[in-house]
Amino acid sequence: MKDLEPFGSRRRRYHLIVNAVVAAEVTANGRQHLRVVVDGQDYWFAHGVPGIVVDSDPIRVCALPLEVRFATLIPPGERGGGVVEDTRLVVLGSRGSIAVSGSEFVRYGGNTTSFALVVGDETVAFIDAGTGLVAYRSLGLEPASSVHIFLTHYHWDHIQGLSMFGAVWADDGEVVIHGPGGPEQVVTAAIAPPWFPVALAGAGAVRYETVSRPVDIRGLVITPFRVEHPQGAFGYRVDGPSASLAIVTDHEAGTERDASIVESIRGVDFLIHDAQYRPDEIANRRGWGHSTWVDAVVAADAAGAKRLLLTSLDPGSTDRDVDGILRATQERFPEAGIARPGLEVRL
Ligand SMILES: [Zn+2]
Repeated sequence: MKDLEPFGSRRRRYHLIVNAVVAAEVTANGRQHLRVVVDGQDYWFAHGVPGIVVDSDPIRVCALPLEVRFATLIPPGERGGGVVEDTRLVVLGSRGSIAVSGSEFVRYGGNTTSFALVVGDETVAFIDAGTGLVAYRSLGLEPASSVHIFLTHYHWDHIQGLSMFGAVWADDGEVVIHGPGGPEQVVTAAIAPPWFPVALAGAGAVRYETVSRPVDIRGLVITPFRVEHPQGAFGYRVDGPSASLAIVTDHEAGTERDASIVESIRGVDFLIHDAQYRPDEIANRRGWGHSTWVDAVVAADAAGAKRLLLTSLDPGSTDRDVDGILRATQERFPEAGIARPGLEVRL
C-alpha cells in the first residue's frame, strides 16, 4: 500500500491493488460497503470502489486485480459500530490568474481555484469553479445529484471550469450556483457563444442563488464574508461536524476590510489564504487584489487559525519557487502548507 499523505483526515486513504471482491452490501442510506482482498488480507471499504458495481447479483467487477486510488479504509474492528461519515474538503486547484502546465508545475498543480466539499461518498458542494473543478473525476469524487457551487467572484480563473462540468448540462439532477449579486446574469453571459460553443442559459437543471447569508449543506455551514478584490469578492467560512476552515482566495490585505475578515474567520482550524505575490514584488502590484505569504501569516495569527494553507499561487511560480515560499512561511508559521491538488482537510 502506498500512503497518500493524508492531511487532517481521520481515516487514512490509500492507493491499493484489489485482488478479489469477497462481499458487498448497500446500507439503508444507500452507501456501498465492500469487502475486498488486498494483498491477501480482507478489508472493508467505506464506499464503492470505482470499477466494482454492487447493484447487481453477482457483483460485477470490471477486471482484477484492480488499481484503486484514494480508497477509504475501515480498519478491522471499527466496522459494526456504525460508520461515521467522512466530511472533508479536497483541493482541486489552487493556481491564480491562469492555468499553467509543464514539468515545473507538477507538485503544486496548474489548475485554477476550486475546492470540493465531500460528505461520505458524495461531493455535495464546490467552492469556486476554476479549471480545477473538472479534476474531481481523476480524484475519484462523485458529485451528489443536487450539488452546490459557491463562487467567490466571476474572474475567469474562478468560473472557467463550469463550462466543462457535466452536471450543468445534464437533464437530471440539480446544480445550484451561488454567487455575488446576480449570478445568473453573469454566468450565462460568460458561458455562451462566441466564447463557448453552447449557451448555458436555459440548459440542464441549473438554479442560481445570490450569496447573502449562511447556508447549511448536509451539516456543513457555509458562511460568506466580503474580501478586498477588484469588482468585489467573497470568502467563505465552512463549519463542519468536527472542524472549521476559511477560504480567503483573491484578497488584497492591508485595507480597513482586514479587521472584519479576521472576525469572520476567527478560531478556524484551517485558513486557506491568498499568497500570490512575493513580499518584494507586492509594492508594484497594489490594487491588483492579491496578498503575500506574509499577509497570510498575519491573518492566521490574528484569527488564531491552527493551520495555514497558501493558495492563489502565481502562474509564474514554479514548484521550486513555491518550495521557497513554503520554507519562508514555515519559519514564521510552522503549521503552514500549500493547498495543492488532492490535499484533504477533515471537517
Ligand atoms: Zn480575481
